[in-house]
Amino acid sequence: MTTTTKSVLLLAMISGLMQLGACSQDKPAATAASTAVTAAAMPDAATLKAAADDGKEWLTYGHDYAETRFSPLTQITADNVKELGVAWTFDTDSFRGLEGTPLIHDGIIYATRPWSSVFALDARNGKKLWDFDPQVDKSIGWKACCDVVNRGVALFEGKVYVGAIDGRLIALDAKTGKQLWQVQTTDPMRPYTITGAPRVVDGKVLIGQGGAELGSRGYLTAYDANTGAQVWRFWVVPGNPADGFENPDMEKAAATWSGKWWEVGGGGDPWDTIVYDPTLRTVYVGTGNGSPWSHQLRSEGKGDNLYLSSIVALNVDDGRIKWHYQTTPADNWDYTATQPLMLADLTMNGLPRKVIMQAPKNGFFYVLDRETGKLLSADPYAEVSWASGVDLESGRPIETGNGRYTTAISMVMPGPTGAHNWHPMSYNPATGLVYLPTMQGTSFPYSQEKGFTHKPGTWNLGINHDAMVGIPLKPQSEYKPGTGPKTRTPGALVAWDPIKREPRWVVDYPFAIDGGTLSTAGNLVFQGGADGKLRGFTADKGELVWEVDLGVGIMAPPITFELDGKQYLSVLAGWGGSSGLIGPSNTGQYKPIGRLWTFVIGGDKNIVPVKGQPLPELTTIAFDSNKKVLAQGENVYTKHCMLCHGAGAVSGGALVDLRYAAPATYDNILNIVRHGAYTGLGMPNLGEWVTDDEVNALKNWLLSLRADLMKPKK
Ligand code: CA
Repeated sequence: MTTTTKSVLLLAMISGLMQLGACSQDKPAATAASTAVTAAAMPDAATLKAAADDGKEWLTYGHDYAETRFSPLTQITADNVKELGVAWTFDTDSFRGLEGTPLIHDGIIYATRPWSSVFALDARNGKKLWDFDPQVDKSIGWKACCDVVNRGVALFEGKVYVGAIDGRLIALDAKTGKQLWQVQTTDPMRPYTITGAPRVVDGKVLIGQGGAELGSRGYLTAYDANTGAQVWRFWVVPGNPADGFENPDMEKAAATWSGKWWEVGGGGDPWDTIVYDPTLRTVYVGTGNGSPWSHQLRSEGKGDNLYLSSIVALNVDDGRIKWHYQTTPADNWDYTATQPLMLADLTMNGLPRKVIMQAPKNGFFYVLDRETGKLLSADPYAEVSWASGVDLESGRPIETGNGRYTTAISMVMPGPTGAHNWHPMSYNPATGLVYLPTMQGTSFPYSQEKGFTHKPGTWNLGINHDAMVGIPLKPQSEYKPGTGPKTRTPGALVAWDPIKREPRWVVDYPFAIDGGTLSTAGNLVFQGGADGKLRGFTADKGELVWEVDLGVGIMAPPITFELDGKQYLSVLAGWGGSSGLIGPSNTGQYKPIGRLWTFVIGGDKNIVPVKGQPLPELTTIAFDSNKKVLAQGENVYTKHCMLCHGAGAVSGGALVDLRYAAPATYDNILNIVRHGAYTGLGMPNLGEWVTDDEVNALKNWLLSLRADLMKPKK
């Protein structure tokens, strides 16, 4: 097996583990003061409820409670989009992944960056108003399966809410950025993290968490938006029955589990999507995968394991379940249903339906009646081999059997990356289409770990890593083909028709990870790419009508807003996340800075892409080239370092490329790896996990790669 093949396999594997004061210059001081007074109590509950009507602001994560990410603004159209130029940019001082949706209210943009810090900018010119750093202890960064990213804040009555990567929910004064209160939403001794954006509904702040890869029991909590006092908690999976059940929902769920699932935790962490129907007073949450992944190891291979991988409708008053729909019963593949949920009113078979839609990792696009939970349709939006379809009567997937792996390897589509991940989709009522960023044909070698035991405080997947590294890969075409649209390229923007249950148009991409989407009444869809390009397509036909190169891979979804009569388009561009750490940089840039870009018609069309940092000059360092030592070093690297520093020690650009480290860093490697010398920089102390000998082997292997780089190129 070549290093490249191995790297690609590991890439597929890991990427799936898968989250005032100073005022504007053109505003008189008196106006600024009165604006600040008004802003103190806004946006209120009525404003948030009506957020869909007002396209001028972007008040909550998905634009409004329905989270369709549709803007009714029409100043930017398919005809004039080519006139977009830069209004202003803001450098975030971060080199890691930017996944956030900025919010805009009263002329101020609120956005987040890695390590959960929040910044507020004057939306007219990008000038910073305040910056808040929650001072996260960076030594806990390893708990984040998929980079220390953050997807955004919530706004309510003059407060800004952010979930910190260390599990705190923090309320800030929107005017000053000063902390008002904080609450620890998780047990800090367990490997929980928050990367998702909080939502404020009915005067409560809702937040979940991640952690199912490491061993966790997931839950969603509602806190009083003013005080931070807990109002209710929805547990996704039952705990140990011997401790008693929190409520009858958990007792019912426990009947679908076997063995001692609570020892690892069961999982189900709802780390991203939450939507709200204020008329039905119902909160909808998407739940996560099982912990460990293997159903056999988690639940003796028995039962559906409620409420994993489900869309769950909760009563907003008490968090009790109204209905649930499990997209993947007995999850075995990290098939989370944490992917974005979306509410819409559709006419189906001549009848008006209030629906909820989702394209979870498992490859099927679901439409359900959100009043009753009845499944209306479920169709593959990508090639899928674990199931051949979904039975609409029972609502259950028709499994092919290919997915129920044993200790022998089974190649399954999609892999743990999912055919769609957290990247938001959008819905345009004029075209009736959902614009869905997809990953296509991600077969993955699943096999059950032999002799699995719960290892507290580290990865607990229950699948066999070593076998994955060792197996020879065949071309994709030689694996069991799936149902659904045939894979043509690694990624695609799919315009899905939820009525006809098929794609209307598709844009194929030669790379797998692309940004979330935005759709507007200007007949437009906007999407950033892993290649650093920001694109505009016609919403009805998918014709490319605008493309600019920002120089850095884009994962976050664009937003749009109107201020002083002008429509703006903003997007956070910063490469990272699980794929950005483990995989190569699609732009070829090393440590490019993450930037917030804002465009306007008539703006500066001289768009200068972000340039990464030059790689350091290499000097020769002697090393032990004994094959056994090098093999041991590679093994240590793959097990403990690769997740963050990249497959084959090739940096994806977000973190330091170890092959280029300074000689002094190699001299200090034992202190860094085993004694926590760099914990303040986010490098965990691996003293518990690796020996001195192993660190020495690791050093020699890295130096051998460095020597390869120094060989003259042919
Ligand atoms: Ca997961």
